[in-house]
Amino acid sequence: MSILGSPELDIEHTFVDFESQLYKKIFDANESSINTITLNTFGQAYNTPCLYTDPVTNIQCNGKPVLREYKKIDNTISTIRKFVGCKNYKLGQKGHHYISINQNVNLNYLEQLFQNYIYCPNGINREDQNEIIDKCFTVLPNSSVRNYCSFLHKTNTQIGKGKIINKGNCPVKFYHILPDNLTECPFIVMISTGVHNHPPPPPVKTPQNIMENLQKIVNNEYDLDLTRTLDISHIGHN
Ligand SMILES: [Zn+2]
Ligand SMILES: [Zn+2]
Ligand SMILES: [Zn+2]
Repeated sequence: MSILGSPELDIEHTFVDFESQLYKKIFDANESSINTITLNTFGQAYNTPCLYTDPVTNIQCNGKPVLREYKKIDNTISTIRKFVGCKNYKLGQKGHHYISINQNVNLNYLEQLFQNYIYCPNGINREDQNEIIDKCFTVLPNSSVRNYCSFLHKTNTQIGKGKIINKGNCPVKFYHILPDNLTECPFIVMISTGVHNHPPPPPVKTPQNIMENLQKIVNNEYDLDLTRTLDISHIGHN
């Protein structure tokens, strides 16, 4: 769980209610909206260093990204186009930061972000607990190697990635009961016991190792430890 996650995610569960509002929010957390695309454009601007090198001093530019605009004239019709440029740009210099802006971006929102927010590349500093934080409903499986949530989050002054917090191993155990002859009786009973110490994760494609192990069961190779392989305990945002 990331440190920016919603307090609603701090729950246990024994079954998954697909109709619950929380479940829907977790499921929708992976959807990209215009606002998340805009936030990502802001983050990308800060994560892309300016490659301009001063020809006299040979020092690389460390200019911060800024929102700039130019006038495009097409058959006497002029339109204002915005782009992300470098704060240190001076007329005639070539090679500074230039990022064109995707048409799915909300330009007014992007402008507000550049005006009012600080980008925190190492995650948001939450020492000031009073800051309002947008809730995140990202829940990841323990097998995930990500340290940060893939979305950028906002307080009222900062924007940064949410750190993922590992909720620890889930105490739920899975057991399987197999018939002596799978060909005659092609059924497997799976039982899970215990309470999951995390919110229900959204449905994901069955992991490859579980597919392979199920295949082994079907092939009558009984020597596998399903308790371990099927106990997919989970991480998410807290
Ligand atoms: Zn620059
Ligand atoms: Zn998040
Ligand atoms: Zn679990």
